[in-house]
Amino acid sequence: MDHVGRIFRPPSEADSLLLQISVGCSHNKCTYCAMYELDEQRFRVKPMGTITADIEEAAGYGAAGIPVRRVFLCDGDALILPTDHLAEILEMLHRKIPSVRRVGIYGDARSILRKSPDELARLKELGLGIVYHGVESGDDRVLERVVKGSTAAEAVAAAGRLREAGIRHSVMVMLGLGGVEGSARHASRTAEILTAMDPPFVGALTTTIIPGTPLATEQDEGRFTLPDRWGLLEELRVLVRDSEFSRCRFHSNHASNYLPLSLNLPADRQKALDALDKVLTARDESDLRPDYLRGL
Ligand code: SF4
Repeated sequence: MDHVGRIFRPPSEADSLLLQISVGCSHNKCTYCAMYELDEQRFRVKPMGTITADIEEAAGYGAAGIPVRRVFLCDGDALILPTDHLAEILEMLHRKIPSVRRVGIYGDARSILRKSPDELARLKELGLGIVYHGVESGDDRVLERVVKGSTAAEAVAAAGRLREAGIRHSVMVMLGLGGVEGSARHASRTAEILTAMDPPFVGALTTTIIPGTPLATEQDEGRFTLPDRWGLLEELRVLVRDSEFSRCRFHSNHASNYLPLSLNLPADRQKALDALDKVLTARDESDLRPDYLRGL
């Protein structure tokens, strides 16, 4: 496989073939993100010849007894690629690796809304099964501050467009992204946007300050303070309490989190609130995942 730079993928794509069809992120401005900071990760679409060679290599895995069932298309927001280009890749995957059952990709509100409903339906028809979308916050003040490049309303519109196309939507939000000052508003607005989006999958991650990022500079200059671990759990509690889902698999088990939860909402809501209340009342650090086990 031709992999340029470090490859990122959602936790649920751990067993997938990681097919890198573009390098880097076309936006690459979010103030907390250092995923694609190297020169070699400057955004570009990979040549079709490279992608074809990777698909042909993966087609041989089946003969070796490792059939490819899932494929994740990397990098950052690969859904931004032109529809015809994505369609050509999906068609080739289907033709050369018939064992593939699902294809996933990272997208954001910009890349989803740049595709018309017909274009998304075409990609769904060709095998695109799930889009992983870092929504991060439902608070436009926070989104503007971190230079997310899209608004809460656009994220809700993107959710509707994916639902219409029958493509599953997995949403990530970031605990603590509003800082101490904006914590309550960030949590309540994020619960509101999750309710409006009603995605089948949500992952709540904890904001991690990465040295060298603009957010780290804000922290060093005293312009941003991450809530402490109890403040982060209070935000998680608001999300669990106030988000209304039809049916959602809700995780807070990312390596960055202090309290891993894996819930079916709304069914598990009270059980989760009871567990959170117990931890928040006791304030016993031994109830939390220690820092050395967190993916910092
Ligand atoms: S859109 Fe995603 S990959 Fe791109 S800069 Fe923002 S967080 Fe990083």
